[in-house]
Amino acid sequence: MSDRHGDAAVRPPHVVEGGGGDDDDDDDDDDEECFAPLSPVLLDASGAPVIPPVSARECRNAGTEAVEVGRNLNRLGGEVLVQGTAKVVGGKWEENGNYSRGIRGPEDAGTLGKKRRPVTVDTSKAKTSLEGLKISIRQLKWREIPTGRRAPCDIYWHGVSFHDNENITSGQVNKFPGMLEMSRKTNLSRAVRIMQELFPAEYDFYPRSWILPDEYQQFSAEMRAAKESAPTPEPTFIVKPDGGSQGEGIYLIRDPGELRPPAAGAGAQARQSVVQEYVRKPLLVDKLKFDIRLYVLLKSLEPLEVYIAKEGLTRFCTEPYQEPSQKNLGHVFMHLTNYSLNVHSGNFVHSESHNTGSKRTLSSVLRRLAAKGVDVKRVWSDIIALVIKTVVAVVPQLKVYYQADIPPGKPGPSCFQILGFDILLMKNLKPVLLEVNSNPSMRIEHEQEVAPGVFECVPSPVDEEVKVAVIRDTLRLVDPALSKASSTCKLSSSSFSMASVDILYIDIARRWSGALPDSREAGMGLQAFVEAFLYLAARRFKSQTPREQAASLLDLCEAQLESSTPGPEERRSLSCGRAASRGAAGGPKPRTHARHPGPPSPAAAPLPRRASSQDCRRAEPRSRDAHAEN
Ligand code: ADP
Repeated sequence: MSDRHGDAAVRPPHVVEGGGGDDDDDDDDDDEECFAPLSPVLLDASGAPVIPPVSARECRNAGTEAVEVGRNLNRLGGEVLVQGTAKVVGGKWEENGNYSRGIRGPEDAGTLGKKRRPVTVDTSKAKTSLEGLKISIRQLKWREIPTGRRAPCDIYWHGVSFHDNENITSGQVNKFPGMLEMSRKTNLSRAVRIMQELFPAEYDFYPRSWILPDEYQQFSAEMRAAKESAPTPEPTFIVKPDGGSQGEGIYLIRDPGELRPPAAGAGAQARQSVVQEYVRKPLLVDKLKFDIRLYVLLKSLEPLEVYIAKEGLTRFCTEPYQEPSQKNLGHVFMHLTNYSLNVHSGNFVHSESHNTGSKRTLSSVLRRLAAKGVDVKRVWSDIIALVIKTVVAVVPQLKVYYQADIPPGKPGPSCFQILGFDILLMKNLKPVLLEVNSNPSMRIEHEQEVAPGVFECVPSPVDEEVKVAVIRDTLRLVDPALSKASSTCKLSSSSFSMASVDILYIDIARRWSGALPDSREAGMGLQAFVEAFLYLAARRFKSQTPREQAASLLDLCEAQLESSTPGPEERRSLSCGRAASRGAAGGPKPRTHARHPGPPSPAAAPLPRRASSQDCRRAEPRSRDAHAEN
């Protein structure tokens, strides 16, 4: 088995199943399986490729050959960034839409160095990921702890949430606290919508959405207005229950009066739903609507590290698509791409190869598009931008969850998580985010009707190959020997990473946005700036009192100003002014040294710059009608 998987990445990518929802949903899980083995792209919060600072030598010292990971990162367009000795292992998208695999050696099986203690993985809570996980562990020659830990493990693989095992104080858990919550339809919608309000042009990949019942009035008013301004084609909306997955409870409407009441006895949360503008012109292949399941690894929040699998799945409808009309609104096999629904259609075809059937690889679809002259590199880079921006939208809340569970100073594990992004391509090739699954299924078998009415779990070699590769690559990326070396992606000696500055900016700008005269205005008002300033000061000068921290940061800023301000007169007046006002406020006495030796610390400088937000600020034109959503 391990040989078989050891060379999995050499073989062409395969189609797997897709489903929709999160977690252990077989359907959803199945759909999510396509991953480009060992060719993730690591991007920082700005979308710029990042290479973990793991040199080949460091890795060899650590006694592992699983280092391919550190040298396997490709820039979006397929340009290869290599660090260390490296041969190129990752694949890339070519002009013709082909997904070419890099050359791989036998070491790709993830063999360990001779002396190293095998990494231990607690698989007792892995649920439906278990089979794929076991195979991956075998391939890496790591050690499975199937019955749960007695001694601490290096990695804990949870099937559902961070809390599947309680009281873990070390190692790594494959779930972030709060991710389950953040990926709920309403929460994701809220997070993206906030960003849409701040950066409408950058976040236009998410359909206009409303959260019901809270925003019912707003929704029906806008729906009426839309109908009046453009009666044809009549606008269509899709309603999605908050906690649903796999297409469960989803329906299309054209009038607020068609909204269905929540199930009797449903709790407050279950009564919520997201209603969303229906994308009426999706890209079709073989006259069928399809969506993309992309695997994304959130490896760390600080610094923000995101890997995107180059291979994905496409899940096909089973009834030829027609734009929504009153007659076809109820045709789920035409409008909903969920595997879990379409598998029940008589037209469903279990894929025999990666480019046929109801579930195909993303690469096979892109190849077809490329053959028709589509710029697939552009499509791919748009998809990556969508992923990064979505991650940036949820990170601030995730950090809050993280700190609630693992406050600074409290011993706790670090976290990583595989996410399943569901994306629809519009006819004009623009990607649209449908949802993010916090628990994409990693099942490597599917149910099949082997005789009329008789269903069996049938191994799916395609699922196995793709999903095992995803899990294995993830494990390699979180290999404890590499993690130690890779946490140095910092801007300054104050341990303040670029991603931190980004998130700080976004978080604070967002929280204070309501205080601005135009709440849609992106940027920092004075109060927000002051908050950010004090935060930076606290981070940079930890051991001082708050007043001293602020004073020290001012000194630092002044030193920087001096180096860039020409006239001595100007410098003097600036210095005096500040000293006087500080004295009057009873703050710490102005320091006589007043200058920090050496280059100015970047801790003070980055405030106005935001790697991930630069793109956003570039976006001048704003469409007033852009809204947020899942
Ligand atoms: P679930 O978690 O239940 O799968 P999704 O949000 O993924 O919910 O929606 C289910 C399916 O409905 C998607 O796979 C897609 O085919 C279709 N869909 C969802 N949102 C839209 C939309 N805004 N426009 C067009 N189709 C959509």
